[in-house]
Amino acid sequence: MWRGGSPGRFRAVFGGSPLSSGGSPRALEGKVALVTAGTDGIGLAVAEALGVAGAQVFLSSRHAHNVQRALERLRGRGLKASGVTCHVGVAEERERMVQQALDTFGAIDILVSNAAVNPHLGPALDADERVWDKVFQVNVTAAAMLVRLVVPHMERRGGGAIVLMSSIAGYQPMAGLGPYSVSKTALLGLVAALSPELLPRGIRINGVAPGLVQTRFSSALWQDEAVQEKALGALGALRLGQPQEVAAAVLFLVSPQASFIAGQTLLVAGGGGARL
Ligand code: NAP
Repeated sequence: MWRGGSPGRFRAVFGGSPLSSGGSPRALEGKVALVTAGTDGIGLAVAEALGVAGAQVFLSSRHAHNVQRALERLRGRGLKASGVTCHVGVAEERERMVQQALDTFGAIDILVSNAAVNPHLGPALDADERVWDKVFQVNVTAAAMLVRLVVPHMERRGGGAIVLMSSIAGYQPMAGLGPYSVSKTALLGLVAALSPELLPRGIRINGVAPGLVQTRFSSALWQDEAVQEKALGALGALRLGQPQEVAAAVLFLVSPQASFIAGQTLLVAGGGGARL
C-alpha cells in the first residue's frame, strides 16, 4: 500500500523513470552533493564517485589540510568540488557547512552523512557515559540533525536523496566495539524512521552498511594479517573491501536507478551476511 503522499512527487525525485537515465555515467549532472567526512577513505571515494557522475560536490571534515588535499585531488580530476571544515558533532559547524554549500553551489540535492567516531576499544561495560554520549552525538544525533537541516533545501528543489553510513557492526555487534556497533544499529532505525516522513516530501533516505573496508579508521582490524583473518572470519567475508566498492553502492542509491528504493540499508560486505 502506498503510504507516502503523491506518487507523482516521489517519481519526480531525480528524473522520473530509472530507465530514462539508462545507467548514464553522468546520472547526477546538475545535482549538488554534500558529503561529510569526505576527505579520506569511504567519504573521499564517495565524493569522487558522485563527482564523476556529474554532481557538484561539497565535502567536509574536521581538518583544513585534509579538506584542501581532497579538493586538490577532485579538482585535479576535473571535478567540480568545494568544501569547508566541519566537526559534525558541533551544531554551529553543521549549520555553517550547509550554508556554505548553499552559498557555493546554490542548492543541496544529495546528502551523504558519513562521519563517525569510535573512541572506545574494549568491553562495552567499560565504556562510561562520556563515551556513549560522544558516540551517539557524532554518529547518530549529528546525522539526524543534518537531515533536518538539508530537508527544506531539498524540498525547494522538488526532492532529494540521502544516504546514512552505517556498518555491518550495526547488524552484528563487533567484539570490542560495543557503543560504536550500537550507534550503527541506531542508524538502521533512523533510516527506517525518517523514510515515511521524507518520502511525501520527495526525498529518499537509505543507508549503506559496509563490511571491513581498507581505510585508516579500520586499520587496527586489517594491518595485522592474523587479526584481519579473524575479523573477516567473524563477519563471514573472504576479503577486505575497498572504499570505491562502498562508493559504488552510495552512488547507486542516490541515483535515478534507485528511484523505487527508500528506507533500506544496503549491506556492502563482501558476503558478510549479517542481519538483525
Ligand atoms: P577514514 O578513512 O579513517 O576517514 C575518516 C574521515 O572522517 C576523515 O575524512 C576524517 O577527516 C573524518 N572525520 C572524522 N571525525 C569527524 C568528525 N567528527 N566530523 C567530520 N569529519 C570527521 O574512515 P572510513 O573507514 O572511510 O569511515 C567512514 C565511515 O564508514 C564511518 O561512518 C565508518 O563508521 C564507516 N564504516 C567504515 C568501515 C571500515 O571498515 N572502514 C566499516 C563500516 C563502516 P578529519 O580527520 O579531517 O576530520
